[in-house]
Amino acid sequence: MTTESFDVAIVGSGFSGLAAAINLKREGKRSFVVLERGDDVGGTWHFNTYPGCGCDVPSHLYSFSFAPNPEWSQTYSLQPEIRDYLRRCADDFGVRPQIRTGTEVTAASWNEDERLWEVATSGGEIRARVVVGAMGPLTEPRIPDIPGLDRFEGKTMHSARWDHDYDLRGKRVASIGTGASAIQYVPAIQPDVAQLHVFQRTPPWIFPHSNRDIHDFERRIYRAFPPLQKLVRGGIYATRELAVLGFVKNPRLMGVAELAAKRHMQKQLKGRPDLIEKGTPDYEIGCKRILPSNRWYPALRRPNVELVTGSVEEVRANSVVGADGVEREVDAIIFGTGFEVTDMPASRLVQGRDGRLLHDQWHGSPNAHKGATVSGFPNLFLLLGPNTGLGHSSMVYMIESQVAYLMAALREMDERGADVIDVRADAASSYNAALDERMDGTVWNTGCASWYLDDTGRNATLWPDWTWRFRQATARFDADHYSIESAPANAEIAGDPAAPIAN
Ligand code: NAP
Repeated sequence: MTTESFDVAIVGSGFSGLAAAINLKREGKRSFVVLERGDDVGGTWHFNTYPGCGCDVPSHLYSFSFAPNPEWSQTYSLQPEIRDYLRRCADDFGVRPQIRTGTEVTAASWNEDERLWEVATSGGEIRARVVVGAMGPLTEPRIPDIPGLDRFEGKTMHSARWDHDYDLRGKRVASIGTGASAIQYVPAIQPDVAQLHVFQRTPPWIFPHSNRDIHDFERRIYRAFPPLQKLVRGGIYATRELAVLGFVKNPRLMGVAELAAKRHMQKQLKGRPDLIEKGTPDYEIGCKRILPSNRWYPALRRPNVELVTGSVEEVRANSVVGADGVEREVDAIIFGTGFEVTDMPASRLVQGRDGRLLHDQWHGSPNAHKGATVSGFPNLFLLLGPNTGLGHSSMVYMIESQVAYLMAALREMDERGADVIDVRADAASSYNAALDERMDGTVWNTGCASWYLDDTGRNATLWPDWTWRFRQATARFDADHYSIESAPANAEIAGDPAAPIAN
């Protein structure tokens, strides 16, 4: 196999990878390739196809600012519409030729002598001056290590790897987990299955969902007057941003949200004190993601659904045993158990200076400068890296902020004739110290166990401030925080920016 060279290699083609690719394409100065292990673009919206899958951030905000979509059919989109939107973006912005689907990255190592990254993929080796890690934080499904699981003779699947060939009709099913994914697929599959045992370790706080169809006349108006859609987007952004007041600035304000959630539960579970008791969380609202749904509680009331509190303790050949010691015969187990987030499996594949693995550098506690760069890993930019997550607004806003930072860094390198940049360890650590200080006193640190926290108990996931502050922080490249090395006189630019790449 031949080795190909590019200025930039982007790993992943979800919202982040596509945003980076589109910006590079528009700039037109650099050769780049997008490496995607799936068979099409879309990232999380390609892989998550479970029934009922959708986004709980409004469609007008959960889309690229540079690619408004007047055609959204609902105020909160379902997965197929978001997936199709991303596919359309890849086509409309002309980045398909640069995208290699079915190509999995198996390792990436910094070559100090040649001052570039060597990226091993299932399709051969690639060399790139800059690597953009756009793998996304919610990528690797997490399946709990339950005793006896390997002896189960029925069907198992994770929400993010739904097997649509498996017919759930008439089946007895155990569903584990009550997070954002489960509360969407449980109501969707409940009418089909014979019996559904929902295992809930921690009850979620549920809000009323305000989804509605977008009327034809609204779509016509958005098509005719794009600024109006922009205005609506701005309004949604501003309203959502108010949540920062409760999440971050003054968690006592979350009491209002708790009242609304409790009222929703009492209304929807009226006459079912057993479910109200099992479903009432004992942690501060907002400490774990608040989930909007009008269908969750009604699904739990259905005669073929049993809400089992506690985890599955053991799996046998044809049954599961709950914490209550009861054995329930099932044909299938569905894992709505989330993703490896703070462990970041991809960090085991990345070797920086001195052959150091990103995983070892992080030592169970991922951190980065502006969620993007890590000292000792030159020319590596993470998109949606540590502490860029949000519980209340659109991740696309954070992605676009980070892509602006990436593009500013590349321009700075051009201007200085530099070929290596590496964030200074002291700059990264003071950035993170300030961030940790802001994290103190947020609702996420009020004592619940959540996937926001890493092995050390540090919140390595969320951005603890107004989102516009993140945009400000990433608006320009802070060169003074980096060590910047100039290219040797004979350094050559890799590849041809305009060259398409055969799949
Ligand atoms: P999740 O929020 O991490 O939820 C996982 C669920 O599985 C939790 O209820 C957890 O219980 C439970 N669980 C984990 N290990 C378990 C075990 N060993 N035994 C029993 N229960 C176990 O995962 P998710 O629902 O897939 O959602 C992940 C993230 O994806 C969300 O937070 C959100 O950011 C994103 N998402 C977004 C949307 C959207 O609409 N925008 C939709 C789906 C997903 P504990 O709470 O006790 O840990």
